[in-house]
Amino acid sequence: MSDLGELYQEVIIDHSRSPRNFHELKEANRRADGHNPLCGDQISLYVLLKDNMIQDISFQGTGCAISKASASMMTESVKAKTTAEAAALFEKFHRMVTGEGNGMVNPAGLGKLAAFSGVSEYPVRVKCASLAWHTLRAALEARQATVSTE
Ligand code: ZN
Repeated sequence: MSDLGELYQEVIIDHSRSPRNFHELKEANRRADGHNPLCGDQISLYVLLKDNMIQDISFQGTGCAISKASASMMTESVKAKTTAEAAALFEKFHRMVTGEGNGMVNPAGLGKLAAFSGVSEYPVRVKCASLAWHTLRAALEARQATVSTE
């Protein structure tokens, strides 16, 4: 576990234990499901989209600490943002966790999401961390299909 020490930072543990926005959103007008078969993570995402803005967002699901914490922090990060802002945030986040930015992504612009920067060293965990974001994209694009990371 010591190798994962840095990965499971306090903020991630906190969000996995008491996920924010963890409920069904009755007034949601967008919905998508995500599945990461590699780890068994599952998420249902609810979005209330109005005038191209994410007015409200919530999720339900089961999975590992990383996937749950990521979903929790994603919902906090994109609430009250426009779809374009959310997409830009996803792109930054994705570059950070895949290591594509090669350390060039400034975590400052990601706020609390920077807690996931260590994930890039654990390729198997990248899908756990990005599942909620892929599911968000599907919900915003109004795709009905279930998203799979495979
Ligand atoms: Zn997982």
